[in-house]
Amino acid sequence: MFRSRYMPCGECGASVDRADVSLHECTPERLADYQMFELRDDVAQLETRMRRYLATAAGRFESWLAARHVRGGA
Ligand SMILES: [Zn+2]
Repeated sequence: MFRSRYMPCGECGASVDRADVSLHECTPERLADYQMFELRDDVAQLETRMRRYLATAAGRFESWLAARHVRGGA
């Protein structure tokens, strides 16, 4: 069976040489990119969910409250 010399890091997805796997340290940037990639579907749906929420009574109230807060009204 073919076995690649490299394997993806389970944490950050980086290609890691199997011989040096214990030396690998995830960089925060790489880790963040990988986590964003894993969450891409959620991220893509965020706006849709947000719009749906804002159309509900609770969402409309929060919009009103936020707008009032931003304007600094009492
Ligand atoms: Zn890693």
